[in-house]
Amino acid sequence: MDKILVIDDSLVQAEFLRSILQEGYEITTCQTSEDGLREAKTGLYSLILLDIVMPGMDGFMLLRELKGTELTKYVPVILITSLSDVQHEERGLLLGAVDYITKPFSPVIIRARVNTHIQLYNYQMHFKKQAMVDDLTGIANRRRYESESVAKWREAIRFGMTFSVCMFDIDKFKIYNDTFGHPAGDQVIAAVAKTVSSHFQRSTDLFARYGGEEFVAVFVGSDGKSSFEFMKNVRQAVEDLHIPHNSLVSQWVTVSVGGVTLSPKTGDDYSTYLKVADTMLYDAKRFGRNMVVWSNANHEQWREK
Ligand code: GH3
Ligand code: MG
Ligand code: MG
Repeated sequence: MDKILVIDDSLVQAEFLRSILQEGYEITTCQTSEDGLREAKTGLYSLILLDIVMPGMDGFMLLRELKGTELTKYVPVILITSLSDVQHEERGLLLGAVDYITKPFSPVIIRARVNTHIQLYNYQMHFKKQAMVDDLTGIANRRRYESESVAKWREAIRFGMTFSVCMFDIDKFKIYNDTFGHPAGDQVIAAVAKTVSSHFQRSTDLFARYGGEEFVAVFVGSDGKSSFEFMKNVRQAVEDLHIPHNSLVSQWVTVSVGGVTLSPKTGDDYSTYLKVADTMLYDAKRFGRNMVVWSNANHEQWREK
């Protein structure tokens, strides 16, 4: 059930809105802008009903804050107020409110407008999510990877955590397509993605399709050696799918994996380390494929076989 946040210093008014909307929605009420802002930042709400005149931070100030905050800026805000002059309405709409309703209001109109805006919000969120998902595999696509990887990198710097970046590439995949056909190749890409992604289930992990038969993963919090060991298991899990292939590498579909673990510092460049991961992948291909090659900031290298 969609959640609505009502922010109004008048308890009577807030409870009235609750009574109008509670049939179709879950309602939370806050009596001050400060509480409202904290609640809105939980990211749980599909719509905010906001009063303007309140002691302390007023509705306009809160609206500006909500629209300037990443987590809340897409949530539609309807202003509900006794300020019925055009200037206030103009100001509210210019600040980003989707609607402006003056008191006294008709419960039917409130319900209708709320329904419309929640529906629009849900469409918007659906398409926003879709735009970040790879159609073939259902995992994160390149766009999501680009938008999240650097943010994760910065977070690792801020919290002093280790950071690993890892590239995967299916071995001799051109031969697979040539032998079994492109649609079968597509199924292999999806199966490999499913298996690998089952190993990246932490909320801080990001595993994405980089393009074609290549994938990328970023994760935090483990050292070079244990990342290498972890990735060996992931690589083995792909081999253990036992998808028949007739390359010279193996009788099964396999992946080569290259990565690097380091403790990023302010001023370090993410793309430098992505290139290191790419070089490790290149080494894995060069040394025979179906293997993991891993490095750390001291240029130590671990490799299978
Ligand atoms: P290597 O072991 O060196 O990686 O050999 P490879 O044949 O995998 O490398 P190459 O990069 O030459 O070929 C990649 C192939 O992957 C070429 C292309 O036909 C195939 N491919 C890329 N994207 C897709 C896709 O979306 N679906 C299918 N079925 N094949 C794809
Ligand atoms: Mg490739
Ligand atoms: Mg390949």
